[in-house]
Amino acid sequence: MTQNHFAALKLSRLLLEILSKEGYSDPTPVQKRLIPVLLSGTNTTVSAQTGSGKTLAFLLPAFEKMIPATLPPVHHYPKLFVLSPTKELAQQIYEVSRPFSRALGLRGVLLQGGGKRQEETRKLKQGVDVIVATPQRALEHIEAKHIDIKAVRHFVVDEADMMFDMGFVSYLEKIFGMLSTGAQKVVVSATITPRVVKLAKSYIQPLRRIELDPPGMIAETITQHLYPVVKSKKEALLSWLISTREIKKALVFVRKKELADGVAESLQSWGYKVGILHGERMHGERKRALLAFREGRISMLVATDIAARGLDIPDLDVVINYDIPHVKHDFIHRVGRTGRAGKEGVAMTLVSPDEIEQLHDLHKVLGSKIKEVILPEFAPKEVKARGYLIQAPQRRRGRTKPNATKRGDIVLNKKGKKRKTTKRDGFKLLDAKKKSSKKRR
Ligand code: AMP
Repeated sequence: MTQNHFAALKLSRLLLEILSKEGYSDPTPVQKRLIPVLLSGTNTTVSAQTGSGKTLAFLLPAFEKMIPATLPPVHHYPKLFVLSPTKELAQQIYEVSRPFSRALGLRGVLLQGGGKRQEETRKLKQGVDVIVATPQRALEHIEAKHIDIKAVRHFVVDEADMMFDMGFVSYLEKIFGMLSTGAQKVVVSATITPRVVKLAKSYIQPLRRIELDPPGMIAETITQHLYPVVKSKKEALLSWLISTREIKKALVFVRKKELADGVAESLQSWGYKVGILHGERMHGERKRALLAFREGRISMLVATDIAARGLDIPDLDVVINYDIPHVKHDFIHRVGRTGRAGKEGVAMTLVSPDEIEQLHDLHKVLGSKIKEVILPEFAPKEVKARGYLIQAPQRRRGRTKPNATKRGDIVLNKKGKKRKTTKRDGFKLLDAKKKSSKKRR
């Protein structure tokens, strides 16, 4: 076995073997920081940048504690319970957990709205060790006594801020209230908002807070481009970008479900294989679209913010923001679908004049890293005239000074071309100085 740097985190040999087999050799910074804290049994709220490897960071310590002393367990009861706001994210967490469950002889189950309730119940009754669920469905099973919630040793709420956005907080409160005091409780959130803190403080004591990354930051590895565009030309620009930038696989974000359908239809008409991910699509349709996109059978996925939160899609080079989301954090989440786990990524944002206000709200998040690209064919007239949308181009360093005095300095001539200064320039400057001192007298 080649050296696995997870060993430094004091994980057992068995887990190291699984990690190597799954292709993980170096822990991410989030994993380095969080795994020892969780191994010590601490209750924690954690803010971690999207794509930071947080799933393994919260799963590994729990699995470490679940390694059977000798033979695999005969009695299965819920020990690890993870809640996720969306079905897709729950599925993703479940997939990450599976190789570990399998190797440890543990049983896992995925519980989600739209899933087959009877099959879930059957599995729960047969006994499971690991549960990954969406909140409402989880509560239904708990209330039906299919889950012995008091037995749970490790409880994780992922994407807690989104739980609030989606109105799931009452389910969370109920479930928190039923957990045993001895269970380790971990709340993971891209941003630890005041609402998240309030919830955590009400149910978790003592509580440690870890801010792993500056909250709400976009990874440095992502190149961002902003395209000002006349609203009616957005579709044309999208088509132009995909073809001229030779984009093979893109996740296209839109604010509204209806728009997702429209944009997908256009992409289809241009000959691309397209999937759609939004709240009104059937569970099966969403699952199939995501799988096809992951496996590369379709090249474009058009999604709304809620449906695509936290998704991990391999080899996703480009995220296209067809519009600006209402909520600032959604922008970070959108862009965070690319450039994951330290890889490079590109985010292209199309912005029309009616979205300027939202764009200004985003300014802090965008920082100076975003580069405006003004395409004369698509940009609004006033943007073309001004030369920029929100950021005046930065003055180039080392620009030539027009009032250079030394002979041989570079100045610009009337046509804006560079030329060397001459003796005459020096005399002109001297004359000008004399004139101004005479005036002062
Ligand atoms: P997450 O933030 O948990 O959604 O993870 C983001 C991506 O990072 C996923 O594709 C993981 O498979 C990947 N990942 C997580 N941990 C590691 C690691 N230690 N080394 C390489 N990739 C990782």
